[in-house]
Amino acid sequence: MTATGRILRIERLSGFDGDGLRTVVFLKGCPLACRWCSTPESQRSGTDFGVNRSKCTGCFDCVEKCPEKALAWDMKSERFVTDTQRCTDCRRCVAACPAGARQAWGYTADVDEIYREVEKDSLFYYHSGGGITVSGGEPLAQPEFTRELLERCLAHGINTAIETSGFVPWINMARVLPFTDTLFFDIKHVDDKTHKEITGVSNKRIIENLKAADAANAADYRRSLIVRMPVIPDVNDTDDNFRALGGLCRGLKRLAGIQLLPYHRLGMETYRRMALPYDLESLKPPPEEEMERYAGILRQSGLSVSTGG
Ligand code: SF4
Ligand code: SF4
Repeated sequence: MTATGRILRIERLSGFDGDGLRTVVFLKGCPLACRWCSTPESQRSGTDFGVNRSKCTGCFDCVEKCPEKALAWDMKSERFVTDTQRCTDCRRCVAACPAGARQAWGYTADVDEIYREVEKDSLFYYHSGGGITVSGGEPLAQPEFTRELLERCLAHGINTAIETSGFVPWINMARVLPFTDTLFFDIKHVDDKTHKEITGVSNKRIIENLKAADAANAADYRRSLIVRMPVIPDVNDTDDNFRALGGLCRGLKRLAGIQLLPYHRLGMETYRRMALPYDLESLKPPPEEEMERYAGILRQSGLSVSTGG
């Protein structure tokens, strides 16, 4: 019996999340609530539901076929509401939708099943030097599943990477590090007070874990650490924040580089489908020259920095 995990989806042939071509396994469940999150469907561990309103014909077959009376149309807000306490995740509402408008995000699968999916891309890994990247949600919130999956991949010569928010008990990270070739470590803001305001949690544990991961024994850690910071206009794009990030990263001995990731709006349609408010509607992605200027601030600390993604 292999460990089971809560999976969001698998995306193939990513050229960004590690060396070569990657198969990215997105897990469900995240301890942070970032205001700019581009994957709101990844935040809860449980299944999420949504409706593509441009396809929906208003037939209400989905509501009628729900055996638990968990799904209703709310006249006041003019949206479908799923009672997560009653919902048994039977997916009859999805199957009943004649327009293919109702959708579900999230499923449970074990390591054997996910490894079989990952293994299908072996030829791409062979030719590109790529491998698997486990992302989220938060992969280290499911440490047993992530560890077992990465261990299996390594045993078959598949390169491994994880993307973490760092907001997990250290023991979760320590269990997975020995099976991780590349650790992508997100820092959203260096100032703790602002970090709490924009993500809902303190960054103290995150920074402690970053330092502990950097200091881990060579035998407990396979290759490289890359720090990532999303650049969100008017949220964390101050010169002071980049200077502070430079100060934090300067002392890291395993650091292979820093990646600055410009804010993008690709998640907006998912917010619409999930009928969630998106409070950064008017925000524009930062221009390339601004991204380069931020990178320049970090380079003054002698760090290797790339932008994009
Ligand atoms: S998954 Fe099943 S229980 Fe949940 S809303 Fe759909 S039909 Fe109802
Ligand atoms: S079954 Fe599909 S098309 Fe009909 S109301 Fe539900 S989501 Fe809309």
